[in-house]
Amino acid sequence: MTTQAARSIGIVGAGIIGVQLARALQGRGLQVTLFDGRDPGMATSFGNAGYVASDEIFPLAHGAVLRSLPRMLLNPLGPLAMRWKEFPRLLPWYVKYARACSGKRSRHSINALASLQRTAAADWKNVVALEHLQPLVLSNGAMQVFETDRAFQRTQLHRDVQSEYGINWQSLSGDAARDKVPELSARIRHAVVYPAGMHVTNPYQVTKTIFDHFLADGGTFIRASVEQIERSGRHLGHLTASSQRYQFDAIVVCTGHLSGRLLKPLNYKVPIVAERGYHVEMSHCETRLNCPVGSSERGFYVTPMSSGLRLAGTTEFSSADHDEAPTWGRADVLKRHIAELMPGLAEQETGRWMGHRPTMPDFLPVLGGVADCDNLFLAFGHHHLGLTLSAVTARLLGDLIVGTDAAIDLTPFSLNRFQ
Ligand SMILES: Cc1cc2nc3c(=O)[nH]c(=O)nc-3n(C[C@H](O)[C@H](O)[C@H](O)COP(=O)(O)OP(=O)(O)OC[C@H]3O[C@@H](n4cnc5c(N)ncnc54)[C@H](O)[C@@H]3O)c2cc1C
Repeated sequence: MTTQAARSIGIVGAGIIGVQLARALQGRGLQVTLFDGRDPGMATSFGNAGYVASDEIFPLAHGAVLRSLPRMLLNPLGPLAMRWKEFPRLLPWYVKYARACSGKRSRHSINALASLQRTAAADWKNVVALEHLQPLVLSNGAMQVFETDRAFQRTQLHRDVQSEYGINWQSLSGDAARDKVPELSARIRHAVVYPAGMHVTNPYQVTKTIFDHFLADGGTFIRASVEQIERSGRHLGHLTASSQRYQFDAIVVCTGHLSGRLLKPLNYKVPIVAERGYHVEMSHCETRLNCPVGSSERGFYVTPMSSGLRLAGTTEFSSADHDEAPTWGRADVLKRHIAELMPGLAEQETGRWMGHRPTMPDFLPVLGGVADCDNLFLAFGHHHLGLTLSAVTARLLGDLIVGTDAAIDLTPFSLNRFQ
């Protein structure tokens, strides 16, 4: 196939990435079939913190982060946990991660991430207008809080990089932060406000609404897991789902942390892990809190959602292919955090959840085609930023698949970097 001739597209995976892409391709006149063994938006896209974090350009693959890992791992209430029995299995990923933290590589990652983030918020605003999502997506800014001078100073590099790339932030004293959010405890010594921050008040409902519009406009959804994608030379043949075979002009893999499983039989190496994260939802008392508030030291966000207060975050490294039961103690830690950071705000727990962030060693997503196959495209590995980057991903991949030059250089996101 030449990309210009593509008429029918099969998309595997109906998370926020697959659904946004399905809609973008449908808008370009293509016939799109979306496959998922679950209902759309029910995997990792279901339970995130809802923050459209277009200010986030500092990659987690960075020397400063690498150096802070021992401190984080030694703190049982800290943002990071390791499942030690999985360590040997994850070792090759950790080695690649450490390499990606070198000064040169992380500068390259900052540039690449910034090239996506430059339009991430504008792309989201276009989606909000097109899909009539206004009540579900708010532009109230966001806040990051710090309990120690040390943590504030240590992250200055982060903000210097943001300033270099034109990202607007304002620092506040603890008292000024409490004027905005009175529930913040006296422990908070500094805060940084991101005025351009947006958030969604129900991540699942956002995916579902876009998906419903996709169906209403003639899109097809097949509720089945794709078992196999066949290849013949430079060309993909069929894909098989529930023992049925389907043929498309092009296929896009958007299967989050499970992407390696589908691509391995096609001889692609996909060094992806699942960064397991948790949320707890709680009812809350009357509050002026109207935007996500993140804790720098504790690595989680508190976001006001339509369903209550969502406390979401923490990272637990896990292999993408060997999933085990959630470690609910990580969710309990979130409740302890909120009691210390915003005492009295959260009331009853109403639900808890665990999801898998799909993460490559350099914390850049995989986007684009592949060198040795003409009709295979990839869009996965968005780690902590899948909600944020979903609209820009859909626009860029949409353009690429219909043969329009992508507005940015997609080379840094190619899977070739790991082959
Ligand atoms: C605690 C937590 C907080 C987060 N907070 C934020 C945030 O505030 N902002 C932000 O931008 N991001 C955030 N994220 C990250 C974000 O949620 C993810 O990056 C994003 O949801 C990934 O979307 P996806 O579509 O790639 O994956 P998923 O939502 O996991 O979707 C992948 C889909 O592929 C399907 N699939 C897999 N294999 C197959 C197969 N063989 N056949 C058919 N279908 C298949 C799955 O069933 C699934 O539905 C957070 C994540 C976590 C865990």
